[in-house]
Amino acid sequence: MRTPLIAGNWKMNTTLADAHVLANGVKTHAEHLEHIEIVLCPPSIWLTEVAHMIPSGHFRNLKVGAQNMYCADSGAFTGEISPVMVKSVAEYVIIGHSERTHIFGEKLPLLVNKMRAAFDHGLTPILCIGEDTKGSESKRHLVHLLNHLLVEASVAEIERLVVAYEPVWAIGSGTPAAPDYAEEVAATLRQVLTAKTRILYGGSVSDENAPLFLRQPNIDGLLVGGMSLTLKPFLSICKMADDAVISHKTKQRL
Ligand code: PEP
Repeated sequence: MRTPLIAGNWKMNTTLADAHVLANGVKTHAEHLEHIEIVLCPPSIWLTEVAHMIPSGHFRNLKVGAQNMYCADSGAFTGEISPVMVKSVAEYVIIGHSERTHIFGEKLPLLVNKMRAAFDHGLTPILCIGEDTKGSESKRHLVHLLNHLLVEASVAEIERLVVAYEPVWAIGSGTPAAPDYAEEVAATLRQVLTAKTRILYGGSVSDENAPLFLRQPNIDGLLVGGMSLTLKPFLSICKMADDAVISHKTKQRL
């Protein structure tokens, strides 16, 4: 069974004090959520601070992720952070978030290079893909995109990869995708991934709708934006994911 993953993308939010409160709050509760993995993705300026609270390899089920990185190890790339830098504080990195592609114009060849850099440095990419508009025929396009992004990846790398299906129209809109539609897309994406690859859903996830996604067989967790900025709903989403594993295991035993 794939370990469910709940990732919190704080985007360009939080003060240093907020980052402390959120990371410490999640850390305090994570030990009771032993069936899932939680990844916190703070803004890059707080990565080191959050990594002090959650050092790499210290917690089995609580990890730190970067929201973005460039693909070169070092050099004249003002404003960027490198995979080498990320590796010293985090285990995960979000790649291809629609805010990077839409607002900052990141294109496919750059994303391919970022994927390669993440794999080469032992980071686990959380690769975001999703259609721009609701109802646009998307599955074929997403499979095509995924094949392109993973053209250089080995089977072992694809097994390690996390893919986040994030319909762009659902992000921050308050209108999530229908859970059965998200499952349909996840099942289609899995055909070009592996049985071990974790597929997340992201887009207006809340503590009310989270269980509807978590019960889908091909959805292995959630990428949470807005709701990861407040401890209570984020922890309750994590608890729901943990409970879902417990109830699945109990049913299997009966
Ligand atoms: C995201 O940032 O990837 C996201 C899904 O945001 P939200 O949960 O706020 O829609």
